[in-house]
Amino acid sequence: MTSRDQALERDSVDPLREFRDRFAITDPDVIYVDGNSLGRLPFAAQERVQQRIDEWARELVTAWKRWIDLPTEIGDLIAEAALGARAGEVLVADSTTVNLYKLVVAALEIQPPGRGLMMDTADFPTDRYVLQGIARQRGIGLHYLESDPIDGPSAADVRHACTETSPAVLVLSHVHYRSAALADLDGITRAARETGTVVVWDLSHSVGAVPIDLRRARAELAVGCTYKYLNAGPGAPAFLYVGSELQERLRSPIWGWFGQADQFEMGRTYDPQPGIRRFLAGTPSILPLVCVEAGVELVAEAGLSEIRAKGTALTEFTIALSDERLASLGFAVRTPRDPRRRGAHVSLQHADAWQICQALIDRGGVIPDFRPPQVIRIGLPPLYTRYVDVWDAIDRIAAIVSKGVQRGYDPAPGRIT
Ligand SMILES: *Cc1c(COP(=O)(O)O)cnc(C)c1O
Repeated sequence: MTSRDQALERDSVDPLREFRDRFAITDPDVIYVDGNSLGRLPFAAQERVQQRIDEWARELVTAWKRWIDLPTEIGDLIAEAALGARAGEVLVADSTTVNLYKLVVAALEIQPPGRGLMMDTADFPTDRYVLQGIARQRGIGLHYLESDPIDGPSAADVRHACTETSPAVLVLSHVHYRSAALADLDGITRAARETGTVVVWDLSHSVGAVPIDLRRARAELAVGCTYKYLNAGPGAPAFLYVGSELQERLRSPIWGWFGQADQFEMGRTYDPQPGIRRFLAGTPSILPLVCVEAGVELVAEAGLSEIRAKGTALTEFTIALSDERLASLGFAVRTPRDPRRRGAHVSLQHADAWQICQALIDRGGVIPDFRPPQVIRIGLPPLYTRYVDVWDAIDRIAAIVSKGVQRGYDPAPGRIT
């Protein structure tokens, strides 16, 4: 059996151990394993927001001269620290949902008319709804890839599906939100390209957790959110990436004044800015933007190779403990067992998953999340999660479920899961 002391020992030699102190942890007795849904608050974000609020108070509209380039300046930080992209290829604005809409419609405009869309059936709902809406608006088809529910689609699956239906655009998650399967970014991008399909990668569950090299993969388009492993806070603006080769050919479907060349000349007709800025729409949200900056700087300081190494070790530890202590209580691991094939969370399936989740939050001192039908996700953001947190979380889950505490909770899922 793995002991709690072994976990403490691993924490004492963890190269990232000091990063935990950079985050607000108001109740040390609560184990937070849902940072893949909403990351913790970095103290730096708190300070940075206060500075901008002071600027607003003091300088009013004249502070815009310093604020106006934040969407691209912070985009450049993300590009370098987390995406393997170049300066000028990433923009921080709007939500992931809106950015996905902008890029998919922009990509369709440069593809031969009539070709459809493709995505994985089990991908994140907002991605599915955005594509369903675009397919309906434009009268084109939407094809679904039926891939393995744990491992996700392989490059061979994508090659086969794209050869059969030649979609104009394929949308895929790099790390799957439920199973944590890590897709073959290079292989899938290449397979799609060979059939003339443009891939829009959704990096929401991989950015800040897994090293990404968009340049090496020759990826053309990507989106992702900043409030998960980048710890930028609830509703912080998302990012979008457009490889420099494609930028001048693409146009955002939202022609807003922030995407306009010579914006303050207030010209009569729309003429898109050169470069990535044409994907801006309206006024950027300055306060949450500086939280993105603070979050990305922490990731840059820690370095993605350390983050990845610890993420792998934490998921490995979680799976080992789950096999030891939870399998006999009816849990099954629904995440790839090969560490090279998964991101930084572990999904555990159980028939009472929703009730267990409620019991854990209410009485167990553990905050995970539930994803239907039967999955509890254990998110393990490496910057602030300790090995002892994993040990204690599994111990508390075992204690709750072995006593049947979950049976006292309503089996009908609530409004927010
Ligand atoms: C979290 C997440 C989103 C979030 O989209 P929002 O527009 O920020 O609500 C989108 N896609 C995936 C794959 C996600 O994991």
